Amino acid sequence: SRQHLHAGALITFRYLGSAHNKIRDRLTTSQKRLREHEEKLAHVARLNTMGEMASGIAHELNQPLSAIVSYNQACLRMLDDDYPDLELIRSAMHSTANQAHRAGEIITRLRAFVSKQPARREAISLNQIVRNTLMLAEYALREHGIEILLNLKEDLPPVEGDSIQIEQVTLNLLTNAIDALRHKPQPRQIRLETGATAELACLKVVDNGPGIPDTMLSKLFTPFSTTKPHGMGLGLTICQSIIESHQGHISGRNQPEGGGSFRITLPLQNAQPSSAALCEKEPLSHDANAQL
Ligand code: ADP
Repeated sequence: SRQHLHAGALITFRYLGSAHNKIRDRLTTSQKRLREHEEKLAHVARLNTMGEMASGIAHELNQPLSAIVSYNQACLRMLDDDYPDLELIRSAMHSTANQAHRAGEIITRLRAFVSKQPARREAISLNQIVRNTLMLAEYALREHGIEILLNLKEDLPPVEGDSIQIEQVTLNLLTNAIDALRHKPQPRQIRLETGATAELACLKVVDNGPGIPDTMLSKLFTPFSTTKPHGMGLGLTICQSIIESHQGHISGRNQPEGGGSFRITLPLQNAQPSSAALCEKEPLSHDANAQL
């Protein structure tokens, strides 16, 4: 009920709990069903586009990278000569630099693609984003026996932007958290939290998994960095592009007690654009760190 949504309150939705059933009932009007369905379709379409784009880009990147490898191997061989042809080595090294440049340009294009001006500019409630995203991830959450802890700030002021894009970011963070919990013994928990300052709204996704590997911490948002056997390493890069195109900020760290913690901040609707710069210093208006 509404009075349970006071700031600082912690609500646990278990999939068999009565609170959850109540919420489900409210969502089952036919109109809402139709809207949800449309939203899901929009997501699938967008995720497919990104998947195709990502594999195209990966393919394209392979060319300059293999060229760099063969130029380097040639250089190494020439250096082993009794009288190395320095001019030839110099020119091969120039070609290497050019190819590396080309690889960089491909990445820049990828970033430009995903950070295009948001298609829509509308008032968005981060609380609604959380609820929509949970619906999309419900199956995976249940399959892995993951408990969701919700800590949503009541009367959260809206941010402005493209809600599908922000949902995509949230879904990505949630999916990463689910991946992190996959092989962990119970309890598996993900906390979703919203909050606001005078100028920003924040959304946090915190899990009690093994945490972000040390080697990843400094390159979370670097394209193609992944520790997953079949990962593309583009999820967080795309999240960052989307959030930055909304004048927001995204960061990831480990909690002191372990487990990954990701936070996005977005300027409130009608706030000054410069306010986004404050996000890292502004604490959430409430925090439930002790709970997880
Ligand atoms: P991908 O999921 O394809 O690996 P991402 O850019 O989404 O690409 O993530 C990059 C890497 O960041 C992951 O491979 C993982 O090592 C790390 N990571 C992201 N989220 C988490 C998390 N919640 N817990 C632990 N590690 C994480």
